[in-house]
Order: sequence, then C-alpha cells, then structure tokens
Amino acid sequence: MDGVVLCEIADEVLPESPEDPTEFRFGKRRWVFKDYLIEHQEEILICIEKCQNARTRKLKFRSIRQESGSCILVLCHEQTHVRARDIEMEVGEQILPLFFKDFRGSLEFEVAQQEKEHKRPLKTYVTTKLYDALYEKHRQTINVEQERSLDLPKRFQSQLRKYQQRTVSWMLGREQQITQVPANFIVLHAIDGRSRVLKHKYCLQFYPFEEEIPKISLPPGGILADEMGLGKTVEFLAMLLMNPRPQDSYRNDYWHQRLEEFSDEVPLKRARISKKDEVFCICTKKHGKRVQCTKCHRWQHEICMTISDTSDVPHMCPSCWSELVKSGERLVESGATIIVSPNAIKMQWFEEIHKHISPSLKVLLYFGLHSSFWVSPFDLAQYDVVLTDYTILRNEIYHTTDFKSDRQMRHQQRYMRPNSPLLMVNWWRVCLDEAQMVESNTSAAAEMVRMLPAINRWAVTGTIDELPPLLEFVGRPEVCRPPDAWQTVDKAFQLNYKCEPLLELLEHSLWRTCKSKVEHELGIPPQTEVVHRLELSNVESLYYREEHLKCHEQFLAAVAKHTRHNADNSSCLASISPQLLRIILKPFLRIRQTCSVPVVFNSNVSSTDYLHPQDLLARLKSNNENECKTELRSWASSYNGLAAIYFIKNDFPQAIKYYNLLLKLANEYNEQNISQVHWLPLSTS
Ligand SMILES: [Zn+2]
Ligand SMILES: [Zn+2]
Repeated sequence: MDGVVLCEIADEVLPESPEDPTEFRFGKRRWVFKDYLIEHQEEILICIEKCQNARTRKLKFRSIRQESGSCILVLCHEQTHVRARDIEMEVGEQILPLFFKDFRGSLEFEVAQQEKEHKRPLKTYVTTKLYDALYEKHRQTINVEQERSLDLPKRFQSQLRKYQQRTVSWMLGREQQITQVPANFIVLHAIDGRSRVLKHKYCLQFYPFEEEIPKISLPPGGILADEMGLGKTVEFLAMLLMNPRPQDSYRNDYWHQRLEEFSDEVPLKRARISKKDEVFCICTKKHGKRVQCTKCHRWQHEICMTISDTSDVPHMCPSCWSELVKSGERLVESGATIIVSPNAIKMQWFEEIHKHISPSLKVLLYFGLHSSFWVSPFDLAQYDVVLTDYTILRNEIYHTTDFKSDRQMRHQQRYMRPNSPLLMVNWWRVCLDEAQMVESNTSAAAEMVRMLPAINRWAVTGTIDELPPLLEFVGRPEVCRPPDAWQTVDKAFQLNYKCEPLLELLEHSLWRTCKSKVEHELGIPPQTEVVHRLELSNVESLYYREEHLKCHEQFLAAVAKHTRHNADNSSCLASISPQLLRIILKPFLRIRQTCSVPVVFNSNVSSTDYLHPQDLLARLKSNNENECKTELRSWASSYNGLAAIYFIKNDFPQAIKYYNLLLKLANEYNEQNISQVHWLPLSTS
C-alpha cells in the first residue's frame, strides 16, 4: 500500500457475530471502535463521512487485512503531491488531535483559518517587507567577528564600504562554514500506542517514522540580492578572491594519469597523413591542420579543437571525453568560477574583473559549441573565471546526451556531435547573474544551469519575483517542497500572521541590503537639481499630445481590465503583484521610450535613430497618408464587391452604377491600383 498508516481506528465485526450497539458500517463491513477511541466515536464518524463524501486525496480511511485474516480500519495518508483540499484541512484539524497525543496545532490549519477571516487578495506585493525583516534578522545574528573589517588580499584594488564588507563576510561564511538546520519534520505518537509518524512542519504531509531525523546540511552558496547599484559585482569578486579552492583538491591526478596512459600507447602524429585517415571533427570541413585523438586515433582540426601551441596535455577528442566522463563517473575538478549572465552584461563582468583585480585573473569568454569551437574540460578547468551567457547555455542544452534526437542516431554520423564540456567540469563556483532570468523553471537555460556541477552555487539578482526557482538552484529544494509547505509559510508571512517560519527558512540562503538602510554609508553627495525648459515646436507638441492621449487611454483600459475583479477596492499600486504591475504600467514604459527616442511606430526607423522635427513631420505625414490610402482601398473594394453582387443577380443597371462610382473614385483620387474591376466572362450574362 502506498502511504503511511496514521492510526488504527476500528476492528472488523465478523459476519456471524451478534449485533453490537456501538458498531458502524464502512464499506461492506461492520466495525467497532478501538477502546482508546470510544469516547471520540461521534466526531470520528463525522470525519469518516466527510472524507468519503469529499473523496479526499490525502487523508483516507481504509480497511487493511491483517496476517491473522481479520481486517482493521485505519486512517492513512496517501503519498501524493496534490494540494490538500480545504475539507481535508478541516478534517485534519479535527481528527489529528484525537489520534496524536502530542499534536499541538499546525501552521497550515492556522493559516487556512486566517485566510478565511481576512479574505485578502493574496498576491500582494510584500517583497519590501520581507527584505526589511530579513535585514533586521541578519543584523541581529551578525556576530562581532563579522563586523570587524575584512582582510582583503593585495590583489584587490578597490575599497569596500562597510555594508559591502558585511555582505562579503556573510558570503564567505556561506562558503566556508558548515551550516546545519533542523529538518522540517516533527514526530507524532499515535494514541494506539504503536504507530509513530513524521509530519511535515508546515503542511498536511506524513512520512514513515525514522528513529533519527538527520539535520539538513545547507549547501554552500546562496542568493545575493542586494539592491541595484549597491555593487553586487564588486562584492562577488571580493568573495571570489578571498575564498579560492584549495589547490590540493583539484590537481586532477586521475585525468593526467589517464591521458598519459593513452598517449603512451601510440605516439602522437601531427605530421602529414595519408588520405585514408578521414577527418572526424565537430565540423564538416575536409581540410585544415589536423590533430589526432590519443584515445580513438581519429583526426580533428586543430582550429576546431582550440589547441594552443603551449598545451602540453595530449589531445583527446570530444567523443572520448564524454565517454570517459560517463564511464569513469568522474569530473574534471576545477578551481574556476563560471559566471552566467545576460549577454548584454557579460563584457561588464570582464571589465570589472580587470578593474578590481590586479594582476588580473585568467578569464575565458566561453562562446559555446554553437560557435563551432570545442574547449576541452581540461582547458576550461585551468581558468580562474569562465564567462558565458544565457543564450549560449540555451543552445548548449542540445549538446547534452539527454537531448540527442532519434534522427541523429539513425543516420550514420558524418561529423562528431560533441557533448557540452561545461558539464564535464566540477566547478568550484557557479554564479547566475540577473538570476531572475531563470525564474521560469521550464526554459532550456534554466535546465542547463541546474545541471552545471558546482561546489558553491550563487544566484545574484536585484529583483526577485519568484523565490522557489532560485532556492532550487542554490540547492535548497526542501524549502519549497512540497509546494503546500512553501505556500503555508509564504501566506503566514503575507498575512502578517507568523513571519518567523519564512525568515528562518530564508536567513541562510538570501541576503539583501536595501539602499534605504545603508544610505549613510554610501557617501553620496547631496542631490542638486538643474532644470532646463525646452520649447516644443508645433509638430513636436502635436506628436506628444497624441502620444499622451494614447497612453492615457491604454492605461485606463489596462487598469479596468486587470483590477476589476480585485476584491480590495482600495487597492493601491503596492498591493498589486509585480507581474500585473508590469502589464498595467506598460503604456508608461512606451511613452517614456517615445520621449527619449521619438520613433513613429509602424515605420521602418530603427529604435535607435533620433528624429529631427522635420523628419518627424515627414513621418507623421506619410503615416497619415498611408492610413488614408488604406481607407480609400477598402472603400473601393466595397464598391467593387457590391457591383459584383448585382452583376451576379443580373441587376445590371445597379452593377453599372457601382462600377461607375468606383471609376469615379479612382479618377478623383488619381489612384491607379484601386480600380481592379471584376471581369466576368460575357457568356454568363
Ligand atoms: Zn573541424
Ligand atoms: Zn577520441
């Protein structure tokens, strides 16, 4: 049977036994309650009925046949990950205290109760509140040790502000200290004196009893979510420099030895080769300087394999690499940090590294297998930092064994399909910059970053919409699974009912500094304001008036459409979810864009062109002209259509009338291509 027996409830009454006044029916059998439940029988009978009527999915009453042959009735919990229904919450709240003597209420029941009472729109925007609470929590737990200033290495060229030092201290702690937190279970002892079960702290989920509940060792890393502009990059680089991987742990003796073994067998031939030695490379080219794989002895192009003259490691082809990594179940150990960012800011990382660290680090820009270059895992592992972006990772997923399609397998391969070397390296650290990019769990990039093997996992982001995907990435799936549990703690926080559970779950994995909290440490000079007033030309003011009107209408329409069903009438911007807010505020985004770069939409001007008022006028004119022409054309085609209908109905005078109107239209507007009059063969008339 799938599921956990929570408590034994009743014994079967054998068919031949005389009627017992306390017996009840369940299924096809007659039952009497166990002694210890006699006093609660009324309540339990109600619960049994409720569960049966509602066809509950998690809490179920069942009869089980025992070894002796007789049956007993039990309450059991099915191991499903569907959400508990409201009725199950209700039943659970009623019945669990009867069955478990040490049951002391549970958060999910309380939250369900609260929700009913408050009836608040749930997706409220409470992120700021969470950040503030978390900031306070961190302030309380920060020890004196961490407050002392950091011993930054000489190579680091920049000064860190006080708050940045606190951030770096926390990050170092997350990488260097082993943190354990208690598991999210509590033990419950059933009233039958026999069963013991584990219950999830925050949801209606039970697990078989275990004598020792292991603590959760938090994986090193976390989510760095300092507010935009506070210098997350420099904080990350300081941490990177201060906690390098111990040299001994990535000497890769195993791989050196393997490669040596292969190259001992056959001397490496780089010289001229005979024609029969076909090239089997990741490209389809025939010519080019070649290099031979030490293991399978097939030939590849030197340029495709990015072989440098200085490399003293024997070459092994991509196929042999993936085969060996798979069979040996061993990765190439590396002290490198791989940083994945949106394409647009990849080079910023590159520049920042050179700016803040001198002598600089060994940095590789990885362009992916789509660029037709293979970088061996061994070479990748030699760098300090490997920079790549989400677009590259998205393509790289097609170079993982799981994604090999049938088509590629059926035909004989003419060229080698390499697997991504990124997955053959055990990185010291992986960092997702602008990690909200992978919040949609299903995207290929998200899939790929989750697969990257790494010891320390970091997500860096200034804006968080959804925490669970990020928590999963940094190795804390237990926080958001089962989803019921996450929702309970999340709601408890949002309803301002109990905030501590959420903060406890997040304190070791999320760090956020807000500008408002550290303003005094920023040392920013006071703001000055200089106003320049510009006179708009007639054309410009016409243009902006129209844009403003459009924006106004679109905004009101969006508000009406998306907030109509909002139960809370006084809903202000702060209570709207960020996703919805983005939709509603879209017209503003557009008018802001048109104000900085006036682009007439639907025209073929690229959005980066600045328009001179003269050009703007010309564009507006041509836009209007096009609109008129479209109208004219539809007018003409209506006449044309009408004429044709009369023609078919043999009402020739009417048909002629409309054809004449059409010709007149064409004449008046001197427009050639509107007068494509129908031509019908004379024989039909
Ligand atoms: Zn090639
Ligand atoms: Zn090979």
